[in-house]
Amino acid sequence: MAGDLDGKAAVITGGASGIGRGIATKFAAEGATIVVADLHPEPREGGTPVVEAVTEMGVEAIYVECDVTNVEEIRAAIDAADEFGGIDILVNNAGIYHSKPFLDVTEEEYEQLLDVNLKGAFFAAQAAVEKMLEHERGGAIVNISSVAGLIGSANNSTYSASKGGVRLLTYALASEYGPSGIRVNAIHPGLIQTEMTTEDIQIFGTDAEEQIRGTVPLRRSGLPEDIAEGALYLASDRSSFVTGESLVIDGGSTYAR
Ligand code: NAD
Repeated sequence: MAGDLDGKAAVITGGASGIGRGIATKFAAEGATIVVADLHPEPREGGTPVVEAVTEMGVEAIYVECDVTNVEEIRAAIDAADEFGGIDILVNNAGIYHSKPFLDVTEEEYEQLLDVNLKGAFFAAQAAVEKMLEHERGGAIVNISSVAGLIGSANNSTYSASKGGVRLLTYALASEYGPSGIRVNAIHPGLIQTEMTTEDIQIFGTDAEEQIRGTVPLRRSGLPEDIAEGALYLASDRSSFVTGESLVIDGGSTYAR
């Protein structure tokens, strides 16, 4: 059966776990070859590593050890897609989170978070655009921002600064490379069940989970698959007239309270 991403090569940063893992699996099911660029191949949440799962589906995939804060390693991850004919799709998904009162954020914490969430996305996009211009097929870049890149909330200054930066980086690149057939869009997930929201911020498995769910118009929290559906739309030709756009996937909690 024909897939929406047949013949395309996708690089997914932070693709080993959570949302990135959901996106990698969905893209492979739609026919894309996959490069998973992450600090380690094992999913944070446990289970079968993506490359293993995707290979079992009969789709080619490779894992590249990559810290997105290191520009050389990012470039090597983008180059790895040459094995599959060159990068067509980049998903800038690698990200970290901390919640802290503004006055307590140290320079080191600021730099670490901005380096992963914003600098990582910036230089991965730069390496991908270079390749896309070279092969002249155009391409699609999907940046995973957050609802925190749209609205501000207390104790989120560093994260919001990074995700707001990702949002406007998206629009700037969409403007600059639209004429070359490169589409650049952002996804703004709401609360999604991953290790980030179970381990790093302990929401899932606590009373906060039910409380937050009660504020979501659709009365559930999101799953990586929900974000993967949006990423598939933005990465595929189904969205061929969409660029510089922000897709909010949050059960309605940002604009429909
Ligand atoms: P996660 O922690 O489950 O997965 C993140 C992945 O990124 C991990 O595999 C991790 O190893 C990788 N990673 C972290 N630092 C890296 C680095 N320096 N280089 C390469 N890889 C690195 O998190 P998640 O919830 O799946 O988050 C994915 C993205 O979605 C992040 O950008 C996050 O900010 C964003 N997001 C998540 C939520 C949510 O509720 N989970 C909501 C909004 C936005």
